[in-house]
Amino acid sequence: MQISESKRLFAHAQNFIPGGVNSPVRAFRAVGGEPLFIKKAEGPYLIDEDGNQFIELINSWGPMILGHNHPMIKDAVVKAMEEGTSFGAPTAKEVEIAELIVSMVPSVEKVRMVNSGTEATMSAIRVARGYTGRDKFIKMEGHYHGHGDSFLISAGSGAITMGNPDSPGVTQGTAKDTLLAPYNDLDAIEILVSANKGEIAALILEPVPGNMGLCLPKPGYLQGLRDICTREGIVLIFDEVMTGFRLAKGGAQELFGVTPDMTTLGKIIGGGMPVGAYGGKKEIMEFVSPAGPVYQAGTLSGNPIAMAAGLAMLKHLNEHPEEYARLNHIGELISDGIIAINKELGFDFTVNRLGSMYSLFFTSQEVNDFASAKLSDTALFGKYFQAMLKRGVYLAPSQFESLFLSTALSDEIIQKILDAHRESIKEIMN
Ligand code: PMP
Repeated sequence: MQISESKRLFAHAQNFIPGGVNSPVRAFRAVGGEPLFIKKAEGPYLIDEDGNQFIELINSWGPMILGHNHPMIKDAVVKAMEEGTSFGAPTAKEVEIAELIVSMVPSVEKVRMVNSGTEATMSAIRVARGYTGRDKFIKMEGHYHGHGDSFLISAGSGAITMGNPDSPGVTQGTAKDTLLAPYNDLDAIEILVSANKGEIAALILEPVPGNMGLCLPKPGYLQGLRDICTREGIVLIFDEVMTGFRLAKGGAQELFGVTPDMTTLGKIIGGGMPVGAYGGKKEIMEFVSPAGPVYQAGTLSGNPIAMAAGLAMLKHLNEHPEEYARLNHIGELISDGIIAINKELGFDFTVNRLGSMYSLFFTSQEVNDFASAKLSDTALFGKYFQAMLKRGVYLAPSQFESLFLSTALSDEIIQKILDAHRESIKEIMN
């Protein structure tokens, strides 16, 4: 694999961009080596600046659920471009997409568009605080909700990958209102709630966390959170920026039959364009300006091109439930294949999967929270990452991420992934 152009670009980029990248985990620091600079993407493939082609298992960290450069999304974007790129005024498309989201996501009765997942979670917490008149909120260890100050405490994803789960620059004043709990532990929540009686505005979590690697909720856990929040008047927020429209049409809340008070969304709504959204019960969302007193705004929010991409994506998913069966089938083929190969090679590590999201943890322990995820051998993960890359499979460059599958993965490509896995495991076992 020739990587001279990526090398040149990375060296040059470091003169002008901190660390040479616009988002930390892209820098490949946790896995060694240097990032590939991507020139284009098509269906299941990424193609770098040197012309190397890779099978893609990140899919822009989730949104390319139908594969890259899907003609339907491309057509919608091109058509919208012909009418102008931004108006800063309401459009019909915004109403259409809001109505569609409300019909698809069980908890959402009203929704506000923003430009990223980070904005969605920051805004949701502000609204929950405004609505309850309380300051504190509970966050789970290892969950990631974007880079808003109050979330950069025991944060997952790039924050833990870079070794900064608690970021400098977040003041103690801000940090004191973020209460931490381990995922999958209802007793820990009860203890926090009784120690902070009447002071907790919200409990936010990834119902199926992907940002410490993929973990699954224990049976009854999400319902247990729902019951505590109802009893205590705490706003339950599901951060479905990754799981929304991916695990099911209505996200993890539909799959597990637990309805939060608010939901944050992103990624797939934009079909690859920068979009986030937050929504929830009417009574809570009526607190958002200009309907209510909690301020939140955005010049580019509801951007017509992003809305066109999102509408094309969501309409398709809404009208084709068979896509979810297909995503689940692809996930099953890959995870079953990996487990069988590991067994055959005597390589004992943990695979967590739900639908089209999965993680391979380099530990033989069961992984269902941040503490167990951190038992993984990250150096060995780095070797596996490089071994797969060499064989043309592009994984997330961190142990603490989920992989995201797309419907563009044919059976033939899945076989290639499994062949690469077998050879990579053999290589790293030596
Ligand atoms: N919430 C979750 C669950 C996420 O996974 C992410 C990003 N991966 C975010 C929020 C932040 O989204 P963004 O990167 O679009 O700001």
